[in-house]
Amino acid sequence: ELHNILVELRGNIRVHCRVRPVLPFDYIQFPESGPAPSEEVVYAISDDTVVVNSSKTGMPVQNKIFEFERVHGPDDTQDAVFEDVKPLLTSLLDGYNVCIMAYGQTGSGKTHTMIGSQPLEEHSATMQESQQGIIPKAAAELFRLISEQPAESHTVDVSVMEVYNNEVFDLLARDEQGNAVSKHRDVISTSSGTSQVTSLTSEPVFSASEVMHIVSGVLKLRAHRNTLIHTDSSRSHLIVTLTLSSKSPNALALARRLQSAKKDMQRCSQRAWWSPRCHRANPAAQNSPDKLFRSPSTSPRLSPSHSPCPSPRQTISPTPFRTKLQLVDLAGSECVGVSGVSGAALWEVSCINRSLSALSDVLGALAEHRPHVPYRNSKLTHLLQDAIGGDAKLLVMLCVSPTQRFITESLQSLGFGTRAR
Ligand code: ADP
Ligand code: MG
Repeated sequence: ELHNILVELRGNIRVHCRVRPVLPFDYIQFPESGPAPSEEVVYAISDDTVVVNSSKTGMPVQNKIFEFERVHGPDDTQDAVFEDVKPLLTSLLDGYNVCIMAYGQTGSGKTHTMIGSQPLEEHSATMQESQQGIIPKAAAELFRLISEQPAESHTVDVSVMEVYNNEVFDLLARDEQGNAVSKHRDVISTSSGTSQVTSLTSEPVFSASEVMHIVSGVLKLRAHRNTLIHTDSSRSHLIVTLTLSSKSPNALALARRLQSAKKDMQRCSQRAWWSPRCHRANPAAQNSPDKLFRSPSTSPRLSPSHSPCPSPRQTISPTPFRTKLQLVDLAGSECVGVSGVSGAALWEVSCINRSLSALSDVLGALAEHRPHVPYRNSKLTHLLQDAIGGDAKLLVMLCVSPTQRFITESLQSLGFGTRAR
């Protein structure tokens, strides 16, 4: 009980940080980078604190301290990192939407953390368990948890998307000949107040290795396409979604479902009485607000600008209970081709990937409990709307390079994580 209260108090957004080890490529000298770019300046000093020693950069404050819910250092294994992620899979079965996203500059270890480090051809079920990142481990844990449930009570579907230049691409789509192609998709707001990617391909999966087989296929396709049309995967976001459908949700999930249905009904009945928006959305309710409930056939069709007001039929129908696990390998947060930038604010304004600043704005609004959360400012935040708001659980995994050469990028990432809390 106490644990639950503590979790409630901490809110639904947690930030973990992983500082990667100094690696051979850190020793490659870049003439413009100064005398000792490989020097270690970011330290994980305890399991919740990171210190950046910026004495070498001549910055006014020499040591900067950042605290997060959990901090992993260079020696922490993939297993250790996943241990702190694991409880989120139980939350998924308890009826919560869950999102785990890796944030950081290119080369900071996002893909290593989310997928694992092995050449593309070997990204498959055969990847050694100790090498696997969060996606394969989470899939394995999900199927393990399902196996403990009554037989055939749960099904899992996977879909894979890429967001590039504020456009969404379905990476599991196929052309008429059945060949894999990436297809452009739209994000729309739904009548239940969240968002949906239209015509998104999803495939049923029955094991973690099947999930990884699909994901690795997509990664190859993506790499191939990137070389063909000269886009850069470090500028795009990869989103793997596992949708869990429960035919017989467990007691906790049922209770939560009932509670949210009640809330929706209350909200909707209030709106029917006083909200002009709801009336406009549903002309049948114009004269008699009660009609909204009496004639479910005239379920309100809300245009995207309308706020949530679900039709009663939707709220009480016995459809399977669905929760989503979204696993996101974000685009690199670095600034490409701009030099001499200093200060987090200037950085943010001048060059960071726009969708990442939109994400920062959304997390900032949620952290400050502001009434308006600007989800619709970018496709990324819009499509992740039901995974990063409400009672969904979000874990931001900050990935940080330890060396002098990337200190500006590392400070920017640590600042992003701090604002999200
Ligand atoms: P990103 O996806 O953020 O661009 P990567 O995950 O590709 O970065 O990591 C860059 C390189 O560093 C890769 O070769 C990766 O194997 C290696 N690497 C990253 N994090 C670690 C770690 N914690 N331990 C060992 N190697 C790592
Ligand atoms: Mg990567």
